Amino acid sequence: MASLLEGSDSTPTGEAWLVGAGPGDPGLLTIRALQILQTADVILHDRLVSAEVLALARRDADLISVGKTPGCSANSQDEINALLVDLVSQGRRVCRLKGGDPFIFGRGGEEAEALDAAGHSYQVVPGITAAAGCAAYAGIPLTHRDLSQSVAFVTAHGKNSLDNLDWPSLARDKQTLAFYMAVRRFPALMNNLIENGRSPDTPVAIIEKGTTSQQRVVRGTLGQLTLLSAAHRIAAPAMLIVGEVAALGSVQQTPATQSQVNAGPDYRIQEERLLS
Ligand code: SAH
Repeated sequence: MASLLEGSDSTPTGEAWLVGAGPGDPGLLTIRALQILQTADVILHDRLVSAEVLALARRDADLISVGKTPGCSANSQDEINALLVDLVSQGRRVCRLKGGDPFIFGRGGEEAEALDAAGHSYQVVPGITAAAGCAAYAGIPLTHRDLSQSVAFVTAHGKNSLDNLDWPSLARDKQTLAFYMAVRRFPALMNNLIENGRSPDTPVAIIEKGTTSQQRVVRGTLGQLTLLSAAHRIAAPAMLIVGEVAALGSVQQTPATQSQVNAGPDYRIQEERLLS
């Protein structure tokens, strides 16, 4: 595709990279992502990309936030696609920098299609997806020889996505579920899983702002999920991990404070917070 543009005097050939920025900790960037951050003229970044990661961009690069905030007006995906294509058409070297991995709930597929349709080539640089980063920093192995034979990355964004999920399959034990964009759907998730046979005693972990200095890990059981979330005022971005493995591990990377919180007469919940 790009070869069509090559050799043209009038149209400079831009470049496009769809790059995963990881979940927050700049130490989780790939070397390739760092190289591109230091090469690109323009960085189109999501709201979730951390300031520490953006600080690694080339000093004179144009940083453009195209983040979408749930419930707030921001650029539509069509506008983002159009801007990306337009900048590359102008001959700019554009890094489309996305939280986590660009092809896991990142709409990178649509941006790749838009570039394709416009005749631009591009490269995709994978990133550490939130499920992997958050689980690791909470000390939770997503799979485990004795406890979990598979892990599913599931989005709970929007009502339709909940209706379309295969709940009987998700409710089977000995598998790990990693829910993205789920905070507002915790009540429905909890009810659907329990109604379809997953035990209310199944361990869960909620990891808020995972891998950042503000990471919080809240653990409990599936049957406590909505109470846990309310008691700790969980806010996006947060990852929900459901499964036997969620009981394992403790906070890593830096010493953690651990406080016991009484959130009701029947149970105790634990909150772990990373120290910056
Ligand atoms: N492409 C991204 C996911 C984008 S969807 C990836 O691969 O990770 C956005 C959702 O990802 C959030 O609603 C949240 O569920 C999760 N997420 C992203 N960053 C996170 C973080 N630092 N801590 C916890 N969850 C995070």
